[in-house]
Amino acid sequence: MNAADFDKLSDEEKEHFFQCPKCGDFVDKCELRNVIFHVTDHKPKPHIPRIIGKPMPERPSGD
Ligand SMILES: [Zn+2]
Repeated sequence: MNAADFDKLSDEEKEHFFQCPKCGDFVDKCELRNVIFHVTDHKPKPHIPRIIGKPMPERPSGD
């Protein structure tokens, strides 16, 4: 995401992004693959699943 698009987001949405120090892109922290792409070497990592940010399922209580 570029700075112009980032500017259109609400403050709440902006909290989910950080600016990549290497390329200046705004990266959605909920997208693990994007984050890893930017904090490593900017090469695609197809083996990393796209989705994260889902809450962990709650463990059933009791045993
Ligand atoms: Zn980057």
